[in-house]
Amino acid sequence: MFRKIKHIIDKGKRFLITTHIDPDGDAIGSAFSMYWALESLNKTPVIILKDPVPYRYEFLPQPARIIYELIDDRYDAIFVLDCGNFFRIGDGYEKLQKMGPIINIDHHSTNETFGLINIIDESASSTAEILYRLFKTLKLKITYDIAINIYTAIFTDTGSFRYNSTNSNAFLICEKMTTFGVKPSYVSQMVHENHPKERFLLLGLVFATLIMYDQGRIAIVHVTEKMFKKTHTTREHTDGFVEYIREIKGVEVAILAREINRKKYKISMRSKGTVDVASICNLFGGGGHKNAAGCQIDGDMEEVINKLRKAFHIK
Ligand code: 5GP
Ligand code: MN
Repeated sequence: MFRKIKHIIDKGKRFLITTHIDPDGDAIGSAFSMYWALESLNKTPVIILKDPVPYRYEFLPQPARIIYELIDDRYDAIFVLDCGNFFRIGDGYEKLQKMGPIINIDHHSTNETFGLINIIDESASSTAEILYRLFKTLKLKITYDIAINIYTAIFTDTGSFRYNSTNSNAFLICEKMTTFGVKPSYVSQMVHENHPKERFLLLGLVFATLIMYDQGRIAIVHVTEKMFKKTHTTREHTDGFVEYIREIKGVEVAILAREINRKKYKISMRSKGTVDVASICNLFGGGGHKNAAGCQIDGDMEEVINKLRKAFHIK
């Protein structure tokens, strides 16, 4: 498969790169590293994002060609990275099918293999780990711009090397990236210690909504539009909140419900130990990984909680 991709890259010139809505560190780091890799091969890559680059990742070497609206065009290939469902690319995703052959590279077990070429490896710590293997096949010279994006993608998707997804490749590749000039303390500071104070005002409001079920094994918090308004924040400031909730002693499943509108919530679930939250989110049409998954649930907060309790068989 990597050889096939190498052939497409060697032959082609113009490439489109995209990822999922609400991009996280792996989404951004993978897209950016692919961009810098293609640049170094004298190709012309373009990134299409449906959301702005989250402030946490603004420190990464930013590609010159990022677009936010899809313009009808032809590409020699379209790389869809870290995106389990085709629709999660965001508005206008259907148009992509006609714009070039789709190369789908991902590590979500729930990936719908919508590409012409699909490289799905659920055992990979991150999509960036798979890309690093691809870059080796391409015999690419790793630059600092590529290295810091790969490092950040792996660092963030493994929860700073704390989650189950932390495998030996994660360490081996990140160690290698330090030899190209990446400073782990710098990345850590940018990702974890660079928040605007408003995020913490929001965090206070969200923590205050904590409810525990099932003898403390399930913890739910929620965030509303009103809270965002009050603290002058947006949904990107909630990145990391659900991970704090998982830190509570005895909690096996942590849930953050974010109001999309009065009748719809976006759910982020995290588990520690054996609970498979991807299968729970799948019940609601979502997906993800065993310990980190998401979905949308219709209803007001009370209805959402009732649906969640039913899914977890809580009386
Ligand atoms: P988050 O809770 O941070 O949005 O997402 C956690 C994990 O679940 C990520 O791997 C993300 O791609 C996946 N995920 C989140 N929401 C959805 C969804 O609505 N559908 C699917 N298929 N995956 C989701
Ligand atoms: Mn990922």
